[in-house]
Amino acid sequence: MLNVEGKVVILTGASSGIGEAAAEVLANNGAKVVLAARREERLAALKSRLEKQGCTSVIKVTDVSSQEEVKELARFTLDTFGQIDVLINNAGIMPLSYLHEKKITEWEQMIDVNIKGVLYGIAAVLPYMRERKQGHIINVASVAGHIVFQSSAVYSGTKFAVRAITEGLRQEEAENNIRATNISPGTVATELLNTITTEEVRKSLDDVVKLAIPAKAIADSILYAISQPDNTAVNEIIVRPTKQEI
Ligand code: NDP
Repeated sequence: MLNVEGKVVILTGASSGIGEAAAEVLANNGAKVVLAARREERLAALKSRLEKQGCTSVIKVTDVSSQEEVKELARFTLDTFGQIDVLINNAGIMPLSYLHEKKITEWEQMIDVNIKGVLYGIAAVLPYMRERKQGHIINVASVAGHIVFQSSAVYSGTKFAVRAITEGLRQEEAENNIRATNISPGTVATELLNTITTEEVRKSLDDVVKLAIPAKAIADSILYAISQPDNTAVNEIIVRPTKQEI
């Protein structure tokens, strides 16, 4: 039996892509999954699919850029299942653009979702996990959190930040037995590119998109991190297409 059976997992960005795949993989391995995102109908469809597979999940419409809604997500999880074992901060957006375009609203959205959303998640569950001296927080960063390319300055900035936050969390909470994992995907076939509004940037990614691996590849790495024994923390994982050079 994997060390995931019976665990209560909060999963943000569960309505598509990596989050949706992670929900399937974790729920099918016995986790009770709280599916969070903004699109309620997508969450409801996923929940009913999981139900048919004999899995347990509940949905909670949440905008991770709202601290209050993320707090409410944690409260809802405790009310529903009585515990929180894992938080997966997966929700993210990637409206890549060049700095000179000054797409300031998109910069702010990336900061709000990719950085503040992660921090709000940590803030919502950490007091509870510290008291219990047990827990696991998984943050989904990116290969773009390890390297920068033209058009990724702000997105990479947010993902470098996610990695820094995860490492700080790891150091500060080691003594409280809380595991911290950073997962950095390469190119994955999801809806993420839909957030790009600069046509030239979208086109520049055509070749790398052809290499994209399925979201299940990242979901499996999340399962791997959770399923290790409690005294073993997988802190950093990079999963990219074999043929992806950067
Ligand atoms: P998708 O666009 O398929 O999924 C993104 C998810 O985030 C959706 O469920 C969306 O739900 C949710 N989301 C976006 N904004 C918010 C918000 N304000 N509040 C709550 N949820 C939100 O993309 P991926 O599955 O690819 O993205 C998942 C993570 O993986 C992201 O952090 C992304 O940066 C990262 N990543 C992805 C890569 C890829 O190639 N696909 C590569 C590297 C990293 P909804 O719109 O319903 O709220």
